[in-house]
Amino acid sequence: MEKSSIRYRKIECKSLLNKSGLSDYAINCYSGCGHGCIYCYARFVTRYTHPREDWGSFVDIKENAPQVLAREVKKKPVGNVMLSSVCDGWQPIEKDTLLTRQCLEILLHYRYTVSTLTKSALAGRDLDIMADGDVDFGVTVTTLDEKLAGIIEPGASAPQERLDLLQTAKSKGIKTYAFIGPLLPLISDSEEDITGLLKAIKEIGVDSFLVDKINLRYGVWPALTKFLRQYHPDLIDEYRKIYFDAATKAAYFEGFRTKVSATARKLGLDDRMTLCT
Ligand code: SF4
Repeated sequence: MEKSSIRYRKIECKSLLNKSGLSDYAINCYSGCGHGCIYCYARFVTRYTHPREDWGSFVDIKENAPQVLAREVKKKPVGNVMLSSVCDGWQPIEKDTLLTRQCLEILLHYRYTVSTLTKSALAGRDLDIMADGDVDFGVTVTTLDEKLAGIIEPGASAPQERLDLLQTAKSKGIKTYAFIGPLLPLISDSEEDITGLLKAIKEIGVDSFLVDKINLRYGVWPALTKFLRQYHPDLIDEYRKIYFDAATKAAYFEGFRTKVSATARKLGLDDRMTLCT
């Protein structure tokens, strides 16, 4: 997604450091995400504020985020913060606003620990401050196929740029992890696909990695079928069965788990893996 094709709106937030199921807290400086991934489950967050707009085509910028956070860190117990949970903190507009960078500085200054997750090479800009704090730096990679990534994650950095980013973080002594997924059934989940991804992260030497499946929350199935209709119409029925027929679903994910576990074992990576499927 081109930065210029995204509609931006400045808003004020009342709170930023919010309780999260993923960690003690989560921070999101943006509502919406310019990366526009077709499988993104975070689209539920804007179902009332942007009911008729396509996910990835709008972003609300919480321009007072650092000021609100600076007040909150003085009042709330120190804990681990997920940066971010329903947007990418380093999506294209962050280059101009620096909101995520400012929030990261505040958190680390007040001794919060931070877990990041991004698909953007822009995060490389902020590795300097991460290297001085307690940060677990994560990068998502779903495929090594640049063309496919450009379709399913149109606004994000190319897969190799993300791997390079992980490598740079690692070389700076930052704790790193890779988030592998979602892998799309029958499109990017072959043994060859999985081996390629795991070999790439092995080479980098990430401290740990997770492998995940698609989370079919609000709006994901329509977005996924729109993608399938355009690029893989022959797979629509298969996908329906995999996601909505209990027996097919169980068989598919059992096979997927076996395939991923065997590959990780073969590469000597199984002790660093968390399989979330
Ligand atoms: S980068 Fe993350 S938050 Fe942004 S659209 Fe993709 S999956 Fe959603």
